[in-house]
Amino acid sequence: MQLVMLGPPGAGKGTQAKRLAERLGVPHISTGDILRGAAAAGTPLGKRASRYMDDGALVPDSVMVGLVEERLAQPDAGRGFILDGFPRTVAQAEALDGMLSRGGRRLDAVVQVAVPQDELVRRLAGRRVCGDCGMLFQVALDQSPNGRCDSCGGPLLQRDDDREETVGRRLAVYERETAPLVGHYRAKGLLREVVGTGSRDEVFQRIAGELG
Ligand code: AMP
Repeated sequence: MQLVMLGPPGAGKGTQAKRLAERLGVPHISTGDILRGAAAAGTPLGKRASRYMDDGALVPDSVMVGLVEERLAQPDAGRGFILDGFPRTVAQAEALDGMLSRGGRRLDAVVQVAVPQDELVRRLAGRRVCGDCGMLFQVALDQSPNGRCDSCGGPLLQRDDDREETVGRRLAVYERETAPLVGHYRAKGLLREVVGTGSRDEVFQRIAGELG
């Protein structure tokens, strides 16, 4: 299955994509995770990307398209993939269509996770990520004794770009650059719209139901 998860920051794409990837046995490819990994490792890509990420801006399309093309060429993505955080612009979506069709492949579906803006702001403010295993938490929902990860005991951290001053900018960038992809994929008959409010299990069941 070759899927794209679409939705604003805080919609729960990452959480649902991870779960769906496990269920389907395909890799979860999060461009944000790849960039944060590169930034932590101090690679040239990471240094360049950090400047944009810290501002809540998008990393240039030329950088992102090359990075995703390389990742999709790896053997584990041959069986399928779940893209989370890419494409984020119409130019990226067109580049993705091109790279897939050159390989004789196509997307099966694009899942759009919709959540009202005030809820997104609340979720982003309460989001914590395990510094060791990357598991995502919500401070209001999850019991995390001593502020450590339930799964591996790692430290729970707030992403720099989840701080209040950057969140508004990321949501505005989503509306301007990424929301037009809803129309792009609807016109192709690929869009599956899912309400992203409620529990993680409820949202997962809705997504599974849409994908049949
Ligand atoms: P995410 O973890 O998906 O919220 O991504 C975090 C940040 O990484 C974004 O705010 C962007 O700065 C950058 N980023 C991730 N994916 C992309 C993309 N497809 N295009 C441009 N920038 C991206």
